[in-house]
Amino acid sequence: MVKVSVRRTSYAYEELRECFFEIMEAIGGTEIGKGSRVLIKPNLLSPARPEEAILTHPLMVRAAAEYVLERGGLPVVADSPAIGSFKRILREGVIEEALKGLAVVCKPLNISVPVDIGKPFGLIEVAEEAITSDIVINLPKLKTHSQMLLTLGVKNLFGCVVGYRKPEWHMRTGVDTAMFARLLVLIHERIQPRFTILDAVLALEGEGPGKGGKPRWVGLLMGGSNAHGVDAAVCRMLGVVPEELLTLKIAGELNVWDGGLEMDGNLPAIRDYALPGRESLVFGPKILHGLMRRQLIQRPVVEASRCKLCGECRQICPAKAISHDRNSLNIDYDQCIRCYCCLEVCPHGAMHKRETMTGWLLRGLAEKLL
Ligand code: SF4
Ligand code: SF4
Repeated sequence: MVKVSVRRTSYAYEELRECFFEIMEAIGGTEIGKGSRVLIKPNLLSPARPEEAILTHPLMVRAAAEYVLERGGLPVVADSPAIGSFKRILREGVIEEALKGLAVVCKPLNISVPVDIGKPFGLIEVAEEAITSDIVINLPKLKTHSQMLLTLGVKNLFGCVVGYRKPEWHMRTGVDTAMFARLLVLIHERIQPRFTILDAVLALEGEGPGKGGKPRWVGLLMGGSNAHGVDAAVCRMLGVVPEELLTLKIAGELNVWDGGLEMDGNLPAIRDYALPGRESLVFGPKILHGLMRRQLIQRPVVEASRCKLCGECRQICPAKAISHDRNSLNIDYDQCIRCYCCLEVCPHGAMHKRETMTGWLLRGLAEKLL
């Protein structure tokens, strides 16, 4: 049974800080002692302003750092962004400003160590800081995610896979979202963040987790000593069947999550939260998966009027499926593995997902028959 504390708040700093401290006390924060080396891991996906609801709010990062300092700990704020320089993210995300005056180290995660996360992946490279810190405070943002439905506590730790390794993993797990979810769960189990506090004050709905999503006021902080518990509480709040969040499903199969939740505080029911379109199923013999992927699964499309031809999507694309010249951008759908990294990183919200005609027809048919 995992206790998840929920508190209503805004980003008015005194109120937010009080809520944050209260949740930390409720979930065992006093464990942080003098000299504890504490990694604070926010979601610092890419350069974005706080009102875009893409990054963990800067004042939440400040509250976490203040909490650690008050307990005598040594806070380090770090992440490995998917795109853009860490410095620029700190500046644009107002994190640099928010941490002013605090004795906190702020740095990108750029040194990896090999760790064995278990079958089928074995040794993978994970940020050293995430493995060697005494305590990890995980600070995810409530956002939708084109590939994984939602990005919450467990998914936030994928940021501990250092920059250039991320697309490599997307490539290796391809469109097999269950395999990707297994990777996320095993990374989470290896890092074992001691505390997870979710920024669900200004959340992101629609085509998240990047600039294609829309900010949505929820007004909550949610915290627990187990990220699966926090993720399950979000599912309960949004009316999402827990198994639909593949990380929860896989965690259940691996016996690292038993589904038991004890709520501390009022969890509202939000039933109109805009979730991204579900993937079509890839089924049958593996030899046909490439064909089905091309024909059935929603494809990334570029909205030419918004595209600035900046090349960020081309850089992140693990399948090298994107090319562009001075005038237009091209996606090779035979190469594309439908990982949607391009949607995630596009700084102009120009990438979207679009259903294929075959996928649309089959989905309609399936919905009539089932
Ligand atoms: S789609 Fe987005 S990321 Fe790609 S080139 Fe255009 S603006 Fe840049
Ligand atoms: S084009 Fe986009 S969805 Fe396709 S493989 Fe590249 S990054 Fe992934």
